[in-house]
Amino acid sequence: MTSVADALRTSYDKGLTRPLAWRKHQLEQMVKMLEENEAALLSALATDLGKPSVEGFITDIAFVTSEVKLMIKKLKKWNKPERVRTPLVAMPARSRLIPEPLGVVLVIAPWNYPIQLLLVPAAGAIAAGNAVVMKPSEVSAVTSALLGELVPKYMDPSAVAIIEGGIPETTDLLEQRFDHIFYTGNGTVGRVVMTAAVKNLTPVTLELGGKSPVIVDSSANLKVSAHRIAWGKWLNAGQTCVAPDYVLVDEKVRDAFVEELGKAIGEFYGENPQASESYARIVSPRHFDRLKGLLRGTTPAIGGVSDEGTRYISPTVLVDVDLESQVMNEEIFGPILPVISVSSTDDAISYVNAHAHPLALYVFAENKKVVREVLSRTTAGGVTVNGTILHLTNPNLPFGGIGESGMGGYHGRAGVRIFQHMKPVLTRGTKLDPSLTYPPYTARKEKIFRKVL
Ligand code: NAD
Repeated sequence: MTSVADALRTSYDKGLTRPLAWRKHQLEQMVKMLEENEAALLSALATDLGKPSVEGFITDIAFVTSEVKLMIKKLKKWNKPERVRTPLVAMPARSRLIPEPLGVVLVIAPWNYPIQLLLVPAAGAIAAGNAVVMKPSEVSAVTSALLGELVPKYMDPSAVAIIEGGIPETTDLLEQRFDHIFYTGNGTVGRVVMTAAVKNLTPVTLELGGKSPVIVDSSANLKVSAHRIAWGKWLNAGQTCVAPDYVLVDEKVRDAFVEELGKAIGEFYGENPQASESYARIVSPRHFDRLKGLLRGTTPAIGGVSDEGTRYISPTVLVDVDLESQVMNEEIFGPILPVISVSSTDDAISYVNAHAHPLALYVFAENKKVVREVLSRTTAGGVTVNGTILHLTNPNLPFGGIGESGMGGYHGRAGVRIFQHMKPVLTRGTKLDPSLTYPPYTARKEKIFRKVL
């Protein structure tokens, strides 16, 4: 039987995906698919994740449509050859970087923003002229099934495919030959993906996770910091790759900060967050049990309430937990926020640097020198200063990790660039044919070389 990669390669080889008109139409169809099926998609997200519809709209619908509309607007520009300078030795000539697609791309997505994390990379691949296979996450099963039904209805199935399934189906896909694999998910599977890619020397983009720290300096505006941290943490019930994982707060302001955090939770979700329509649920019983396990033996300063039947865990704050405990040694990916006191921001920097490079880092400080110190002495995939999450909403800031948190950045121009080969082409004129570089290498020629090179 022909594999999906082979079937799409046939279309790609015929040149189906090359014309800008085809790419534009596919991107427009993607937008149309989201707009015409918004209610059904939001309801699928609500079933899978209890995702509040406003959150679903902002993060899984509008985020995608705005990225895709930008790609449509810039399609010509981002696929135009770029002129670059030519050195004297190669003259007469002109040099260009001609963008070309890579071929057939595989996009593997996780469950936490199941529409955004599948469609944004796929749209980038299409905008660059590739054929693409999308593999949504089986964990967000209802959204995955709906996308599986919608994508072939709206998009050209001979070059845009969607394959549903779990580990066996993904394993099968990974055995096929692709020209790029774009994987979003955890680092363990990231390694499986990269290992599989080695066989065909397929380049990979790995969008992984990890523990994203927040540093709260003593100079921070605590009320604003608490609001912004609470928003970034409890959005999607903490199931966000760039969610604040833990807070390192200056001990002088710790109590005041925790108090502000409690107030922010109350303002956002009311006395009983379980009754709030603005608060999501944990994706599956397995993920619920893992998070409950992280809470075992702890005494939350705020929250800690849960309900197994509805996979609810309240916004939970743990204060000064043991740094050796499990909650401080694996990505939390849920609504639990450890707050750790440090004696100075210097200590916070040392703690961050003793751990893997995070996907995101947040620093809250009014003192600009502190911000500069944190920026210059730490490494992270991306940073928001005096805020959380928002750096990823700017299409002019490539989004991705470094080291354990991944490789390769996307969004905006970078999200198309990742699926292009910028083919260097030097074209020489034939009217002049200077003999300088040709043998015999005379002393005069050498003298000229030594001057100009
Ligand atoms: P997941 O369980 O949905 O897995 C992701 C994908 O990998 C799925 O499509 C799944 O089918 C596939 N998969 C799972 N096990 C596999 C295996 N053994 N072999 C082949 N394929 C396999 O999602 P997850 O990994 O639980 O997602 C959460 C993680 O993703 C967190 O670490 C989070 O930080 C990270 N994440 C990163 C980003 C980012 O943009 N950097 C975004 C969202 C999530």
